[in-house]
Amino acid sequence: MKNIIFILLINLLFSCSSFLDDEHFYCEPEIMPVLETYEAEALKRGHTLDKSNLFIIFEDHKQMYEDDKAFGTAGKKNSIRIIKIADFYWKDFHDPFPLINEILLFHELGHIDLNRQHTENINSIMCPRIYDVYDIYKQSEQIREKYIDELFQNLN
Ligand SMILES: [Zn+2]
Repeated sequence: MKNIIFILLINLLFSCSSFLDDEHFYCEPEIMPVLETYEAEALKRGHTLDKSNLFIIFEDHKQMYEDDKAFGTAGKKNSIRIIKIADFYWKDFHDPFPLINEILLFHELGHIDLNRQHTENINSIMCPRIYDVYDIYKQSEQIREKYIDELFQNLN
């Protein structure tokens, strides 16, 4: 059932050509500013985000909790890379905690764009304990910079 919904969704996205550019890229408008921040931070560190066949979409948060027990997931299906973000949490977090959303999206892009795995290191965005990371991340701009440096370190 889940697969059928996925295929229907992709077909819907592909058929709505106004939402897609030539590279088959789609990002929810509410998530776009955070994706642009990621791209800018990546470029500063010599990395360019490949947006071809990349979909960043909202998923119903109850469904997501049932399926994955997560606020966000990253996966690949054939050549399509898809990041799902739990809708309720994204909208609820944005005010007054926009940095949680930044950590969440950067974490999922860490999986899908940078091929990074989870780590127990609390000083990494790839640590899955998002609230613990957030408690440190939010403390200063220098700390945030260190986290983002770490994300883009030692890439192939
Ligand atoms: Zn993860």
